[in-house]
Amino acid sequence: MSAVAAPAVNISVVTDKAKISAVNVKNRPFPLEWTRNIGIAAHIDAGKTTTTERILFYSGAVHKMGEVHEGTTVTDWMEQERERGITITAAAISCAWNASCGPWKGIKQRINIIDTPGHVDFTAEVERSLRVLDGAIAVFDAVAGVQPQSETVWRQANKYNVPRIAFINKMDRVGADFEMSIDSMRKKLGANVWPVLLPLGKEDYLKGQLDVINKKAIIYSDSDDQGSVYEITDVPEEHKAIVDKAYNDLVTAISDLDDEVGMLFLEEKPITPELLKAGIRRQTMANKFVPVVGGSAFKNKGVQYLVDAVIDYLPGPLDIPPAVGMEPDTHEKIEAPTDDNGTFCSLAFKLWSDPFVGKLVFFRVYSGTLSKGDTVYNPRTNKRERISRLIQIQADKREDIDTCYSGDIAAIVGIRNITTGDTLCDEDHPILLEPPSFPDPVISMAIEPKTKQDQEKMGVALQRLSEEDPTFKVFTHEDTGQTIIAGMGELHLEIIRDRMFREFKVDANAGKPQIAYRETITAPADGEGKLIKQSGGRGQYGHVIIKTHPNERGKGITIENKVVGGNIPKEYIPACKKGIEEAVLNGVVGGYQVIDAHIDIVDGSYHDVDSNELAFKLAAIFAVKDAFKKAKPVLLEPIMKVENMTPEEYQGDILGDLNRRRGKIGAIESKGNLTAVQAEVPLAEMFGYATAIRSLSKGRSSYSMEPSHFEQVPQQLVAAVLDQRDTK
Ligand code: GDP
Repeated sequence: MSAVAAPAVNISVVTDKAKISAVNVKNRPFPLEWTRNIGIAAHIDAGKTTTTERILFYSGAVHKMGEVHEGTTVTDWMEQERERGITITAAAISCAWNASCGPWKGIKQRINIIDTPGHVDFTAEVERSLRVLDGAIAVFDAVAGVQPQSETVWRQANKYNVPRIAFINKMDRVGADFEMSIDSMRKKLGANVWPVLLPLGKEDYLKGQLDVINKKAIIYSDSDDQGSVYEITDVPEEHKAIVDKAYNDLVTAISDLDDEVGMLFLEEKPITPELLKAGIRRQTMANKFVPVVGGSAFKNKGVQYLVDAVIDYLPGPLDIPPAVGMEPDTHEKIEAPTDDNGTFCSLAFKLWSDPFVGKLVFFRVYSGTLSKGDTVYNPRTNKRERISRLIQIQADKREDIDTCYSGDIAAIVGIRNITTGDTLCDEDHPILLEPPSFPDPVISMAIEPKTKQDQEKMGVALQRLSEEDPTFKVFTHEDTGQTIIAGMGELHLEIIRDRMFREFKVDANAGKPQIAYRETITAPADGEGKLIKQSGGRGQYGHVIIKTHPNERGKGITIENKVVGGNIPKEYIPACKKGIEEAVLNGVVGGYQVIDAHIDIVDGSYHDVDSNELAFKLAAIFAVKDAFKKAKPVLLEPIMKVENMTPEEYQGDILGDLNRRRGKIGAIESKGNLTAVQAEVPLAEMFGYATAIRSLSKGRSSYSMEPSHFEQVPQQLVAAVLDQRDTK
């Protein structure tokens, strides 16, 4: 038995690639092959923050372990996050992981961690960070298994093809169940998951991990409660059968997917740990396989080997396909391969107002390098920006850097005119990368500045906050002139108000949260709009005929110009489109935004002298309203996906209450000593839910919810919704 001090990194899999760009090393502090941009994504409370904290600790970026419940973790920057104990803002943190052997011994590997928020009110943050990651650790709670938000994050990761490792955390908790967690990943996520590191024991008897590939045990020393000292031993007799079975399952699963390992398996040739790992890496990167690691971040068991798995199995910037964008004018497809010598291309994925440094723009370099003093080009604004300062966040320190290389993540200080999702590139080679997509807000509230002074500052504050957060919207109510803020949930809006107060010193009163209803049409219809004023002097003449039909759900509003023979001259088509875009913001049922409709501009007429853009825009608005009235319009409401975790004895009450709330009950499953109840419930019925279930279950049930989709408001409730709106 030998005592091993962490971190020990197994590098065998990546060595061949590492040789290729040895030239790079002299310029850059970290070899590109060993850069990993990863996210840690999970359901709230599964343990992302604690896991991130431990990775920073073992990498030497921080010297003291922070605990979430003490409010000291470095990723939770914002005061209010500390207070609430949830991570609201995705912070990009860089750390160095030490290679302890192999050709890169002594050379540090770079791990950039994007701490993605677990609370569903902040899905935009998750989407945004997934866009710039190469791989992710999905953290699960070993007692709860797959929870609704883990499912959402998983689906989002699928959408962006992000390879994953699953970390089944909290194996020390009473009721921890590794098998159940794996099972729920297979059932609910349809994931091809197989353990590479099993937990050794559980609950109070969690001792460490079992390395399935090398058939070894990793046993943490009781003498060091920070988990820095562990021993590698043979697998204890009583665990041998489990490890053998896990090994056989793993080899079979990889053989099924991977030709190289499959061939060895068929020919009954030896499969070395290196070959098996290489196979796992290939299949993980192809998104066909998910290696699973069990452990406990809080009890400091298993985090080092989790990071080893990140290096072993998750792709680096060179392993992923080149970023794809388009030429801003011609829309021609352009690729931006990871290469320090390529033309500069990067994506600004996060804006942050730092109280000390000012406005920070976090960006990921896809191609080329960026140095202090360089000028970048923003194709959205057609503006150039000079880079005067570049920094990287290392735990709670802001480290000035001279150059940021391809595949890396850093922050620019002090540039203006930029929003989340902007591409920054070389002016001679402009490219627009596809920005992340964001869900629609489901809740809104009116806000009013308390004093005149607040009023002046409020505009600036709201503009800045909406630049930072694409799911946060600000607009003025058409009838009342009130300022309305809209977002992804009550907590989201509460935090925005809190930030307005703390960071911008704006005090505002808020109205009651309102549901963001929508409208859509259910039948095809034609519409005509005319604006004709020709009495004396220069008149107005616009005339537009449209056809509309429902779009499938989620497709949004689409507009097509089908005018032939110049009945509406080409130069007025953009004005017609603008009119249509404006018209759909105020539907004909209750003035709510219309979604999922297609509109063809089919005909119209013009006047040589009196026609102008404004006349066509207004005519188009009239035409849309006319058509929508005939197109059987309906009111839609946001439906939330709700999961309750409750002790069984309260299950009946919880179900009864969900029924009263117009909930559709889905799966009911037992998870450890709790029952998980899934339901889809209209958001309108969810106000005050936290208090209600607390009293129903004597505080022993918990729930989480997230926006799912929009559904038609039942006919008998429409009048009430509209009345409520009128008395707002
Ligand atoms: P996040 O919301 O996913 O970032 O989760 P946190 O890291 O904030 O953890 C939520 C709570 O679970 C905190 O009270 C942690 O101390 C606790 N926690 C995290 N990891 C573990 C673990 O491995 N075991 C146990 N028992 N508790 C944990």
